[in-house]
Amino acid sequence: MTGDTLSQKLQRIRDLQFFGEEGGVVPVIDVAATSTFMNPEDMPRAFKGEMQGCYLYSRHSNPTVQMFSKKIAAMEGYPAALGVASGMAAISASLENVLVHGDHMIAHSVVYGGTYALLKNIMPKRGIDVSFSNFDSLKDLEALFTPKTKVLYLETMSNPMLNIANFGAIKEFKARHPEVTVIVDNTFAPLLATPKDWGADVVVHSCTKFISGSSDLIAGAVCASQDFIDALIDINSGPIMLGGAVMDPRIAHELYMRLDHLHLRMRGHSERALEAAQIADRLGIAVAYPGMENHKHHERANKYFDTSYGYGAMLTLDLETPERAFKIASQLQKDNFALYAVSLGFSRTLVTCPALSTSSEIPEDEQAAMDLSPGLLRFSMGFTGDPDSMLQRFERALKTAL
Ligand code: PLP
Repeated sequence: MTGDTLSQKLQRIRDLQFFGEEGGVVPVIDVAATSTFMNPEDMPRAFKGEMQGCYLYSRHSNPTVQMFSKKIAAMEGYPAALGVASGMAAISASLENVLVHGDHMIAHSVVYGGTYALLKNIMPKRGIDVSFSNFDSLKDLEALFTPKTKVLYLETMSNPMLNIANFGAIKEFKARHPEVTVIVDNTFAPLLATPKDWGADVVVHSCTKFISGSSDLIAGAVCASQDFIDALIDINSGPIMLGGAVMDPRIAHELYMRLDHLHLRMRGHSERALEAAQIADRLGIAVAYPGMENHKHHERANKYFDTSYGYGAMLTLDLETPERAFKIASQLQKDNFALYAVSLGFSRTLVTCPALSTSSEIPEDEQAAMDLSPGLLRFSMGFTGDPDSMLQRFERALKTAL
């Protein structure tokens, strides 16, 4: 680890406090779609970007969205951030902010299926050449680099394989090629990892996941330099301003409140996930959890994460065939241990079979190349209920497949 500790991040999030009208302990939600200009002659100046801190129209900027944005920027250690409509909006707008027709980008091949589909099916239509690779070292990255390379894209902890990025190599690559914008999706490891310390220019989040924690909304965020964020909402060329994938202020308010207890939730997720992983391991089921010593990237997790609150919620079990995976998943659902549903970061456990759902966009041969087995179950471990009773249910369900 370099840079900020988890304690420093928590303190920064804590100290960014906004008051409501009349001194309320929480801020009000500013739902206005548009703002009044007391002096009409100021409006042309606002349109020219000459009036800093001036609200114009809520698709451009909104006080409540800005409050949340400041908090998530503080969490990731960047000067600025922007709450947007979804994780995919954060990813596509960040790419659009950098890339122009004829550019080249390098993308890790093990990424969320929706991201893979965006890069594979949409970016080429925009004239962007994407090299997918299972890169894991500086040498791999150098082999992919061309003078046209403008973006390097990866996930901190890959969905669904739970590989941990070799951030040492990313940092060296960025030092050699400062002109390349490094974009990291930190959705699986909020608070645990700080990609900015390892060369990331931009961190994106699907706030739908842990940052929400309740599986009740769709949202995203981009954390970066002030210039990068300003460009996203530029009146003439901003991919968010003109693409329109803005965050609703009511959602920004929810997320602003929930960031204050994200660390406790991450600790709850991590504790339950580690115990579940140990049970599966004891039963001889092929389990991957970055907190287990036998995880292929356990050492990387220790090196690049602040593990004071554990290693996160995500774990996988390889049951080899969909039939065995479905049998366990059905039992877990019957026993009210888990819900068979896509997504992650919910207070309750969610389980799914990525090869047949969230990674189904990835062709079978590429799934095989990334070791994604058709019988892989991906869990986002929740923390509700009595730990002992819940883990007994987990163990009982796993035994049905032995
Ligand atoms: N990034 C990762 C790692 C994801 O798992 C997902 C969705 O599952 C996304 C981005 C997309 O987020 P959203 O559904 O909020 O658009």
